[in-house]
Amino acid sequence: MLPIAIHADRALTPFEEISDVVMVIQGSKISAVGPRGKVAMPRGAREIAAKGKTIVPGFVDVHIHGAGGHDVMEGTPEALEIIAATVAKHGTTSLVATTVTASEMETCRSIADIANFILNEGLSPARGLFAEILGLHFEGPFISQARRGVHPPEWIVAPSRSMLMRFLAEARGTGLILTLAPELPGALELIALAREAGLVVSLGHTDANLKQAQAAIAAGARHAAHVFNAMRPFSHRETGVLGAVFISPDVSAELIADGVHVDPTAIRMLLGLKSPDRVILVSDGISATGMPDGKFKLGTFEVTVSGGVCRNAEGKLAGSTLTLDRALRNMVALGVPLSAALRMLTANPARQIGLGSRKGVLAPGADADLVFLDANLEVRGVMTRGAGLEMSI
Ligand SMILES: [Zn+2]
Repeated sequence: MLPIAIHADRALTPFEEISDVVMVIQGSKISAVGPRGKVAMPRGAREIAAKGKTIVPGFVDVHIHGAGGHDVMEGTPEALEIIAATVAKHGTTSLVATTVTASEMETCRSIADIANFILNEGLSPARGLFAEILGLHFEGPFISQARRGVHPPEWIVAPSRSMLMRFLAEARGTGLILTLAPELPGALELIALAREAGLVVSLGHTDANLKQAQAAIAAGARHAAHVFNAMRPFSHRETGVLGAVFISPDVSAELIADGVHVDPTAIRMLLGLKSPDRVILVSDGISATGMPDGKFKLGTFEVTVSGGVCRNAEGKLAGSTLTLDRALRNMVALGVPLSAALRMLTANPARQIGLGSRKGVLAPGADADLVFLDANLEVRGVMTRGAGLEMSI
């Protein structure tokens, strides 16, 4: 494959801004990035001029259930390919496939199928514009009945070593994140086991009080799933899991910035309390993402989407139809500086799952996952592992 040299108005790496930027792509990787004149042009490079555009790293979504009419738990290559292609058009170039609470059998089957896809099939760059599925986020079943949101109550169970071991066996090394409620009996032991297995432990769907949440953080939890949502609400006398997240600098907080899940004032409070490097924008997107309103599946149950908002039969919020490009625009509209907002959906999530040098950054050796933004932060082009740009402009 010929090297590609891209010239654009600027790039946000996202740690620095480079004006009049040149990026060189060799195969699926970035081989050079810098100001024009400082980057050696490889011989025979195919040149692309992206006038008026800002190049940023592709977005990394660590909490997403589906898109394009499909849910990751279907597990078929067709479903996973459609999800990966749908979100790529919105700038998400890698994702962590997120399960919801289901029967153990159903969950194991989904995990096995997704792992099989990641390990054997994958999505070769030559096939076009696709988000890379990096691994699995197990959301449930070790969660709180009181804070289950739309997770089906019949499949919620107490933390179980043997069940997590079965999940990990089916995942064959592709497990990345476990969201659990730390107040449940056996949760701290399970956190230790998950940490030993290399998982990021996330507090979520939890009614934990401050003490219980802090015990989980002491045991190794470093992440919180969609903060504010499906958690004990903050009170000045019992600050709960939110209090623990706010005052623990090592804990990253997922945020669904769709304007529905979390009020802008709560977002501003979060940003006042957490370093911008510990906020991670997620979509929590479901199969309805990129589709017209109607009835859809989340995991194994039905949700209704009206005006882009997803609810179950009880009227509870059931994930979102948010895409990360919209999350970025929403955050910037709240006054967050673009470079900080960008880190929240690129470098921060990549670092959290241990991929900070390969994903979420524009640097030599990183994957050539690029997003081309116009002045209004609309996505005008996407490249995934060096390919697909022509399909997206
Ligand atoms: Zn959730």
